[in-house]
Amino acid sequence: MKDKKIADLREKVEYKRKKGWEGVTGKTEKKVFDFAEQYKRFLNDNKTERETVSYYKKRAEEHDYKEESKSKLLLTNRGKNLMLIRKGSKPITDGVRIIASHVDCPRIDFKQNPLYEDTDLAFFHTHYYGGIKKYQWTNIPLELRGTVITKDGKRIYLKLGQDEGTIFVVPDLCPHLSRKTQGDKKAGEIITGENLALLAGSMPEQGKGKALVKLHILKLLNEQYGIIEEDLISSELEAVPAMQVMDLGIDRSMIAGYGQDDRICAFSSAEALFDTGIPLYTTIVFLADKEEIGSEGATGMNSMFLIRGIYRAAAAFGTVLNESDMLELLSKSGALSADVNAAVNPLYKSVYENDNASFVGRGIVVTKFTGHGGKYMANDADAEWVSHIRRIFNEGKIVWQTGELGKVDEGGGGTVAKFLAKYGMNVIDAGPALLSMHSPYEVSSKIDLYETYRAYKQFITQG
Ligand code: MN
Ligand code: MN
Repeated sequence: MKDKKIADLREKVEYKRKKGWEGVTGKTEKKVFDFAEQYKRFLNDNKTERETVSYYKKRAEEHDYKEESKSKLLLTNRGKNLMLIRKGSKPITDGVRIIASHVDCPRIDFKQNPLYEDTDLAFFHTHYYGGIKKYQWTNIPLELRGTVITKDGKRIYLKLGQDEGTIFVVPDLCPHLSRKTQGDKKAGEIITGENLALLAGSMPEQGKGKALVKLHILKLLNEQYGIIEEDLISSELEAVPAMQVMDLGIDRSMIAGYGQDDRICAFSSAEALFDTGIPLYTTIVFLADKEEIGSEGATGMNSMFLIRGIYRAAAAFGTVLNESDMLELLSKSGALSADVNAAVNPLYKSVYENDNASFVGRGIVVTKFTGHGGKYMANDADAEWVSHIRRIFNEGKIVWQTGELGKVDEGGGGTVAKFLAKYGMNVIDAGPALLSMHSPYEVSSKIDLYETYRAYKQFITQG
């Protein structure tokens, strides 16, 4: 065949990934960069699930979402899980559309009896949360955010870090002395769970006795926050990276910052809902907690909160459902499991199979299944739902790509998808691809953020 004919044939039949930045100039470029600024501020200010939920509660209220409403419902669950429900133009009995992301992120939690003193230094014992590479969390600035409930049941919000001018560090061993203790070990064993202790102070209370440094810290905590040591047992304290969210690169096309898995999807989906008029179907933006530890717990996707919300919404919007109506409604529903994928990292090409991997800068990733090995523990979206999503994304001229998580036998992971699928609805994973996922400083692309937001808007209007 002639070259021209080959080119025409390619155009006609070959699957070609779109490049996100292609043709982005002028006004569009400004829109992409402005949207990223708003996202960076959100990421900087909200580093825990509780903070993210209060932020979106407030923002939703500014957009007229209320606990009692005939069209815009706002429901929160224990301050760590939130759902926004917007009435659609079709009756709710035709099913709902859900965009479900998660607002918990890998981090280091304080143990319930955290404070101890060793060799004139005070530390906090910790217990990591989610899938982290422990060595990544040593010798980086960490800050403390969380909630303490005192003995009289008073809730105290603690925030101590970058903004307050003091941070915490997990001190690592210097290279001069680590040859045997660390050098001969596997990466996962270099740092043990107990080694992830946070350095908390070194100045003793003046006087005689043992553990005076610890006592001094307890005194300061009592003076500043009114808490005693036993109060820490009833606390949720998190150590999170104390690093500014920054533009990345000479061209500033990327964003580096903590917590982008999965606050990038939480942000894009909530903002998409605010920026869209009446949706086609009744639409739910769901911000889940506990995804990183398996979606269990009262604030995880596997709780009944979603169902309670749909009952409430149906009643508020004028249709009282019985249990069997609910099951019918759920089976007619469709969802995006809004979560991130692992972008190809060119420094470690061997773990990806490029034809089915996702790339930074090539738009939102549609992931048919996650899981591991022979698709174990996966929600495997059916071809019909993939086709529907593909069609509406193409109609909206969304830059999207298909991708699975690494090579078949390389590893794997899960999302909230299967916990939605158990209700018999259509579910597929859709979110941007990140570099350095689950690290203290994850990397995303500004154009992928923008295309993800546009894709969610398209889902809201086209169902
Ligand atoms: Mn995630
Ligand atoms: Mn994750």
